[in-house]
Amino acid sequence: MFFNTHTHLNSDDLYEEREQLIKNCFEKNVTEMTVVGYDLASSKRAVALAHEYECIHATVGISPNDCEDYSEEAFKEIAVLARDEEVVAIGEIGLDYYYDTDKKLQKRVFNKHLELAKELDLPIVIHCRDAYEDCYNMLKESGCKGIMHCYSGSDQMAMRFVQLGFYISLAGPVTFKNAKMPKLVAKNVPLDKLLIETDDPYMAPVPLRGTRNEPANVVYIAEKIAELKECSIEEVERQTFDNAKDIFHI
Ligand SMILES: [Zn+2]
Repeated sequence: MFFNTHTHLNSDDLYEEREQLIKNCFEKNVTEMTVVGYDLASSKRAVALAHEYECIHATVGISPNDCEDYSEEAFKEIAVLARDEEVVAIGEIGLDYYYDTDKKLQKRVFNKHLELAKELDLPIVIHCRDAYEDCYNMLKESGCKGIMHCYSGSDQMAMRFVQLGFYISLAGPVTFKNAKMPKLVAKNVPLDKLLIETDDPYMAPVPLRGTRNEPANVVYIAEKIAELKECSIEEVERQTFDNAKDIFHI
């Protein structure tokens, strides 16, 4: 059984087709998944989906790319949602300096979520792009544990996050021909610290690159990790499933 730790079945691109997409998952033996919120509306939908389907778990939070929508009221609603029994983590949250964004605002919003995670004793799902050093320092100070989602940094940096108590989650890029870093991460980070995800609807893995991504495609990520680690896909399947259950406390 595979555990997809990061899907956006709550996005408008996938939501209406959820019945079929979940069926596709079960055909590929993907039996558990975490639907990740990135703003208030998608967080609400993630929680609703988790109540609707037994195979779905939810996370809630406002991502660095959605910080402009941040308000005290929205955050209060996130904090209420976070107490729902189906919520397994706070996220996706973090820092993203790829676009020319307000770093100060991102840090403030990130900190609010870190405090919430600590208060509720929940793990966190981190979205980090071009901001590894700042992110590392804030996580170290917070003492929170969780997942570095769709990790794209170096393998050395990955091991620093592992030492803080984080799992490293790999998505479509590990299958891309020219993506060197995620391949090094797959090879050098121990399997008992790795997770698999699709981060759909974008970043479909090879051999489906360029098409709309969906949760069932997580098997291609597992297949690639097995190839890079020179182990069986069953081993990747079993260990990443156990890792996901461990971090989400389920
Ligand atoms: Zn995401």
